Amino acid sequence: MAENTNFIEEIINKDLESGAVKEIVTRFPPEPNGYLHIGHAKSLCINFGMKEKYGGKCNLRYDDTNPSKEDVEFVNSIKEDIAWLGFKWDKELYASDYFDRMYECAVGLIKKGLAYVCDYSADEIRRTRGNLTTPGENSPWRDRSVEENLRLFEEMKAGKYADGEKVLRAKIDMASPNMNMRDPVIYRILHEKHHRTGDKWVIYPMYDFAHPLEDAFEGITHSICTLEFEDHRPLYDWVKYNCGFGDFPKQIEFARLGITRTIMSKRYLKKLVEEGRVDGWSDPRMPTLSGMRERGYPPEAIRNFCAAVGVAKSNSEVDVAYLEHFVRDYLNVNADRMMVVKNPVRMIIENADEDEVYDIENNPNAEIKTTHKVSFSRELYIDRDDFAPVPPPKYKRLVPGGTVRLKGSYIVEYVSHKCDENGNVTEVTCRYIPDSIQGGANANIKVKGVIQWVNAKDCVDLTLHEFDYLLLDGDGDFNDRLTPDSHTVYPFAKGEAALRDAKAYDRFQFMRMGYFSAVKDYGKDGKYEFNMITGLKDSYGK
Ligand code: ATP
Ligand code: MG
Repeated sequence: MAENTNFIEEIINKDLESGAVKEIVTRFPPEPNGYLHIGHAKSLCINFGMKEKYGGKCNLRYDDTNPSKEDVEFVNSIKEDIAWLGFKWDKELYASDYFDRMYECAVGLIKKGLAYVCDYSADEIRRTRGNLTTPGENSPWRDRSVEENLRLFEEMKAGKYADGEKVLRAKIDMASPNMNMRDPVIYRILHEKHHRTGDKWVIYPMYDFAHPLEDAFEGITHSICTLEFEDHRPLYDWVKYNCGFGDFPKQIEFARLGITRTIMSKRYLKKLVEEGRVDGWSDPRMPTLSGMRERGYPPEAIRNFCAAVGVAKSNSEVDVAYLEHFVRDYLNVNADRMMVVKNPVRMIIENADEDEVYDIENNPNAEIKTTHKVSFSRELYIDRDDFAPVPPPKYKRLVPGGTVRLKGSYIVEYVSHKCDENGNVTEVTCRYIPDSIQGGANANIKVKGVIQWVNAKDCVDLTLHEFDYLLLDGDGDFNDRLTPDSHTVYPFAKGEAALRDAKAYDRFQFMRMGYFSAVKDYGKDGKYEFNMITGLKDSYGK
């Protein structure tokens, strides 16, 4: 095959060629205990990517076998985020729907003498497990009769025992070099209400027992998971074979995605939310997919990024600049250019008597060229940073005695300016140079720079939100690495009139400033706010 294939595809190709499987069936199995983050996007791209590449199927399966941390809010957010990324699952399934079948499988193991009820506490199990150099000790309950095990397991299910009083363990090998094979717990008692099964169950299967069964019940051919499960594969296979299944599902592991300046663990993200360090799971600083949606990241850019990162067998951290590179790459072609001033200063054009309207190109890089109207009048706003009464070295904008071009309009020359009692500029007066609009007789007069501006008559008052990375650079404990003041608000910005008609999540390039996305309730009750997606400068590869 001329085409590049990754190691997962090589395994799948072999299984198809040998005829071992006919159709590829994968699944995305989130635990509904938090919102999805961009690490999950990687897993989604791989699992749904296999479905697309091989014309197979991919299920969305909620791995909801642990009632204490799960919630319907998370179930719903997960669906929304997957759909937003552009993936369509074949079936929506819940591991909890298989509780009866899983219980039957456990009973089957007991009958085969492959599982036993153990009265050890969690501590005692840990203490007798041994370590990498010492084998574990057999539990004194390891040789209970099948009949006794069946009765006790039935009683566990019936609610006769308290949490932690008994567990069901697989009977494998307490001396196995693989710690996961030392009689792992496969069922525990938990008197807790489940978000779907309510109070029906007081025993719940452990992940290592439940997962291979879920995969097998659904006819998953390739169960793609992250690297930390590599050592669990022998147990995955043990459960699969001893519960009556064959070589498939087959578990394949790939490296987790990590990104610099942020963290990819639901547990930690949950902590940030609960401690109020961020404004919920969808805060634009969060690496969650819903946070990225609020921030304005295009789903296409996230998919392109995941494809470029590829699949690997060793964990590594990807530079956040690489992700931003794909965001810019997409927006450069897809976001219309608009003029906005962040900190406005009034500019009077003293020789402008009549209002004018120009057609400004929306995007020089778009395939189909379009324009929108921008109006000009005697009173404008420019950005405070674009006029310097006392210019620093190499300053390329308006200065006393200088000229500058107003983007898409005239060249203007300085006349005078006013300051308040603190020396802050309050107004700049200029004259426009006739015929200096592009194409005019004076258009070639040399200017120091080009600046954006808005018309005071029709501009829209905007609030801009800018964000820093969640974490400071470095390693150390995440709790000590939170960036202080990572959210800056600019409440006095002004945008050109066309922005009044923007809709929620519309994305723009604000000229010379960066890429911005309209907030989700944009335009409602006079709320005209934008989140900054990313700056203009690509720092990737520097
Ligand atoms: P977390 O540690 O953030 O809670 P998890 O692995 O517990 O993540 P699950 O809901 O169990 O989260 O994950 C669903 C799927 O997404 C799993 O197959 C998991 O391996 C995968 N996944 C989770 N995090 C990443 C990541 N950073 N990179 C790639 N895949 C991931
Ligand atoms: Mg998990």
